Amino acid sequence: MDFFHPSGLEPLVSPEAITARIAELGRQIAADYQKLLAPDEPLLAIGILNGAFIFLADLVRVLDLPLEIDFVRLSSYQDQNISSTHVVMLKNLEMEVRGRHVLVVEDIADLGLTLAWLLDFLKAKEPKSLKLAVAVDKTERRRVSLNLDYVGFSINEGFLVGYGLDHAHKYRHLPGIYKIKAGS
Ligand code: 5GP
Ligand code: MG
Repeated sequence: MDFFHPSGLEPLVSPEAITARIAELGRQIAADYQKLLAPDEPLLAIGILNGAFIFLADLVRVLDLPLEIDFVRLSSYQDQNISSTHVVMLKNLEMEVRGRHVLVVEDIADLGLTLAWLLDFLKAKEPKSLKLAVAVDKTERRRVSLNLDYVGFSINEGFLVGYGLDHAHKYRHLPGIYKIKAGS
């Protein structure tokens, strides 16, 4: 693939392929929610900062639905010794979730612990429905079962960057999805 990328990164998904996939997902999501939402009832899309900001921005712009948007910011800390993950909420929701149709939008599902934590948090608020959309599904290391309703790409190839995904705060802005080459 010949789209722009820094050395040290191997391109996996081109910006054009992402655009095409998002258009498909948008049609599917809009069709599904047209059946669920009452007339003029907006869907509530909740993006998980920081990584989901690009996927959310692209997705909502192809969704032909009444829509409201909120964000949470989560940080997951891996504890190697006791092999568990602690999730800390750095920014809470600003909107009411109770009685709403909610679509969580995330960059990537890996172990699945971050999304599982957020699902529990949101379920306790009793939304009318709760679904998940992820740009990338990395299935191989999943540790909890997650029902991902909408998946952009399934990729099991090491550590990914671009399209919102960072490595030490770099590469989030890159338009495609890349993996970090071994040794770089
Ligand atoms: P979890 O392992 O709980 O499913 O994912 C937690 C977070 O780890 C994700 O939201 C994402 O920020 C980060 N993460 C997991 N896999 C990758 C990856 O391949 N690349 C990047 N940049 N972040 C990842
Ligand atoms: Mg994330």
